[in-house]
Amino acid sequence: MEVPRSVPEISLVRRWGGVMLSRAAQEAPGFVRSLRDHALRLLDGAGVVGASLRLRSVLSLPWLTVLCYHRTAEPIVAEDIDGEVVDATPAQFDAQLRSLGQHFRFVSLDEVLGATRGRPLPPNPLLISFDDGYRNCLETSLPILARHGVPAAFFIPTLHVGERRLFWWDHIAWILRHSSRELVELDFPRPLRLSLAGGTDEAHRELTLLVKRTRGLDLPRFLEALERAAGVSLEREEERRLVDRDLLDWDGVRALERAGMGIGSHTHSHRVLQTLDERELELELAGSRHELERQLGRPVRSIAYPVGYSIAGEQHLRRAVRDGGYELGFSCRAGVHPTRGGDPLDVPRLLMEKTYDAQAFTALTALPPLAPHTTIDAGWSAA
Ligand SMILES: [Zn+2]
Repeated sequence: MEVPRSVPEISLVRRWGGVMLSRAAQEAPGFVRSLRDHALRLLDGAGVVGASLRLRSVLSLPWLTVLCYHRTAEPIVAEDIDGEVVDATPAQFDAQLRSLGQHFRFVSLDEVLGATRGRPLPPNPLLISFDDGYRNCLETSLPILARHGVPAAFFIPTLHVGERRLFWWDHIAWILRHSSRELVELDFPRPLRLSLAGGTDEAHRELTLLVKRTRGLDLPRFLEALERAAGVSLEREEERRLVDRDLLDWDGVRALERAGMGIGSHTHSHRVLQTLDERELELELAGSRHELERQLGRPVRSIAYPVGYSIAGEQHLRRAVRDGGYELGFSCRAGVHPTRGGDPLDVPRLLMEKTYDAQAFTALTALPPLAPHTTIDAGWSAA
C-alpha cells in the first residue's frame, strides 16, 4: 500500500501497472537509502554487525524481533503481474532463515502470545510473520520454513480469503488500468478529477491515499463510483479468477495451521482501523476473529493491523481491539519489542524488502534502529 511506503499493498498495486517504486524507495529517498546502505556496509566492514549479533547472543537482550513478509517468490514475468512484488526470492528467504538461525531463537505466535501472559521467551527471540494470505505462503514459503523448523505467523484478511474479493487497492488498480478514459471524474466521496493521460501511478496513489485517509468511507459505494467514472466494471467471475490465482482459500489456511504455523487476523476487509466507526471496527475486529475461529476450530487472539499504523496512543482503537478479543497486535512501526514491559497491542515489525542483500539483511536484524523508517512510523495522522 501506497504510500509512501511500504506495505504489502504496494506490491499488488504495482502488479496492476500502478506504482512502480519499490517500498524502500518510497520510504526513503534514494540518496538517504544509499547513505544508509553505505553506513550499514561500513559497520559490517568494521565488524560492528557481527559484534552486535554476538553481543546480543551473549547479553540476551530483552528484545523480541519480528520480521514482516508478504510473499517469497521468484520474480514473474507476465503481463498482469509485477515481478517486483516479492519481499524475498525463495533462495533469499532460505539464506535469511539460515543466517537468523545462527543468532536468534525462532519463536511461534503462541509463544509470543504466552509471553503476554507472563511466560518467558527464549533468549534473542525472533518471529517470522506474513501478511495478506497469499497462496505462495503455502506453496513456496511453507516448505522453506519447514526445512528450517521455523514456526511463522500468518495474518489473514477474512473477507478476501472467504469471499474471494480483491483487495481494495488492487480493485482500484484494475479499474484504472482497464479504463480507456484520459480523465476520470469521480463524484464520491468528493469531487475529484484524475488524469490518466500519463499513466495510472499518480491516480492510484491519490485514490489509495483517499481510502486510507477518509473516515467512515463507504468502500463498496466508492468502488462503484470509481468504476462508473472510469467506464469499466470488474465482473465477479474475473475477480474470483484473480483472487483464486493469488490468495489462499480456507483449505490453504487450515493447511498452514496443521503444519504448525500460527494464524492471526488481518481484519476482515483490510481497512485502516483509524478510518472506521464503532460498528465497522466490530465487524473488522471481532467479525474476522470469529470467522477465523470458525474455520480453524481454535482460538485466535492475535492481529496484524492493515497498513501497519501504530494504535499505541489511540485509546478507542485499543479498546476496540481488546473488545474484539485480541491480546496481541502487530504494527509495521520499525523497531524491536521489549519482552518485559512492552505494549502487547503495539508490537513493531521490521518490513522485509527484496532489495536487502545478505549484508543489509544481517545488519538491520543485528541493529534494528538502522531499519528504514517510513511514513508508517510517522503514524496515521501524519500520513
Ligand atoms: Zn496487509
